[in-house]
Amino acid sequence: MEEVRVRFPPSPTGYLHIGGARTALFNWLFAKKHNGKLILRIEDTDEERSTQASIDGIIDGLQWLGIDWDEGPYFQTDFAADHTAAANRLLASGHAYKCFCTKEELEKKRETALAEKKAEVGYDGTCRHLTAEQVRAKEAQGIPATIRFKVPKRPGTLFYDDEVLGRIERAYSEIEDFVIVRSNGKALYLLCNVVDDIRDRITHVIRGQDHMTNTTRQVLLYEALGAKLPVFAHMPLTLDLQKRKISKRSHGEVVAVQFYRDMGFIPWALCNFLCLLGWNPGNDREFFSREELIEAFSLSRISRVNSVFNFKPGDAKFFTDPKLIAINEHYLRTMDLAELGDLVRKELEAEHLWDPAYATSRRDWYLATLNLIRDRFHTLKDFVTAGRAYFSDQYPIDPKPLAKNVLKQPELAVWLPQLAGRYEALAEFDAEATERVCRELAEELAVKPGVLINGMRTVLTGQLAGPSMFDIITTLGREKVVARLRRIDHLYAAA
Ligand code: GLU
Repeated sequence: MEEVRVRFPPSPTGYLHIGGARTALFNWLFAKKHNGKLILRIEDTDEERSTQASIDGIIDGLQWLGIDWDEGPYFQTDFAADHTAAANRLLASGHAYKCFCTKEELEKKRETALAEKKAEVGYDGTCRHLTAEQVRAKEAQGIPATIRFKVPKRPGTLFYDDEVLGRIERAYSEIEDFVIVRSNGKALYLLCNVVDDIRDRITHVIRGQDHMTNTTRQVLLYEALGAKLPVFAHMPLTLDLQKRKISKRSHGEVVAVQFYRDMGFIPWALCNFLCLLGWNPGNDREFFSREELIEAFSLSRISRVNSVFNFKPGDAKFFTDPKLIAINEHYLRTMDLAELGDLVRKELEAEHLWDPAYATSRRDWYLATLNLIRDRFHTLKDFVTAGRAYFSDQYPIDPKPLAKNVLKQPELAVWLPQLAGRYEALAEFDAEATERVCRELAEELAVKPGVLINGMRTVLTGQLAGPSMFDIITTLGREKVVARLRRIDHLYAAA
């Protein structure tokens, strides 16, 4: 069988957004599934809008997601000679012609056609019928020319078989002669994209449905260039709850891949979510490992209807799609601890909380601590915010438990240091002994153990809730526990 070769060809005119990332992901999955190749091609022909920052952002984003490519990045502008050569071949073979109509003339014709309510408002074909002599004469006068593709005047429809949508047809008569090279000699995207796909021996073009109007015209280009058509698979668009296409302009950062990295999402969680946004596994399954997804993926299960990215601006719970948050939580709780350890390490390093011993002598402690605290967390950021007390003596105290569990019980300023003293004296500092001692003291003081436990939780972790108190105590270790319990008076002083 022919080698599967797919491509991800972003135009570097902005950040990598989740729609683009999904396109890259589907191509990557398809390549991996068929032992094929993924080619990264930067379509930078629009020189005014392409930026280096965007190229860097796209590459960083793909790398962060774990979407690796086999060839490239190629840059479309490096192949300008190929594009020009193809245009010249089309001219020579009679599939294209020079058009000398000026912008103003075309605009005028359009207006007249619109005013006369003509069915066809596209190019009227004025230059299609120029003789070779007329062309030479115009060239001699120095009139600039674009190159237009000569759409065959055939009856019936042009068609291709889309892997997702089935047969797509369009009447030849509806397709106007389109420009493939500007009057400044630069080839247009429509042509460059096809020439590059032919050169890169692309077998499958998997891209958004927003490209379908291009596809029909590109089918004509393939035919005229004598090249075999790739298989086309058009993916549904991603819309918001109001059914608007998602874009940074209307939706802001939340549609940028970078946002999820900054918010502490797990890259694979985003991939898993993106895949379900437009691909249907055929059952209720929601979580797929990388290998499982590669195995399960198929173009035929790409959905035909648009997918909805469910987020509500201004609603904290819906700061992004809740399904994405749930998937992230799932991976946070279940992923391999060593892998989680690597991800949390980056967060700790960024906050200057990383201790090199966590990679050596304290690795067991480090991983056990992550395992203890990960259950309630939503993102990787929580390890350095809500979980800060495990890695630093400087951690914020949530005002809610501070008011409820500490300030309302001023006697704790005496009781907790008293407990600290008993903890210091314990022969064995473990969960069982620390709990026993705590309950004994509560009994002596005639208070509910919860009063001491809640106060302790607030003082030791700054949090209202968390893992079992005595697991926290043993994780933090005697020294920190004793010191923090003795420091409780600072909380009253600061209040
Ligand atoms: N450069 C185009 C884009 O970013 C690529 C379209 C295609 O996949 O052919 O939309």
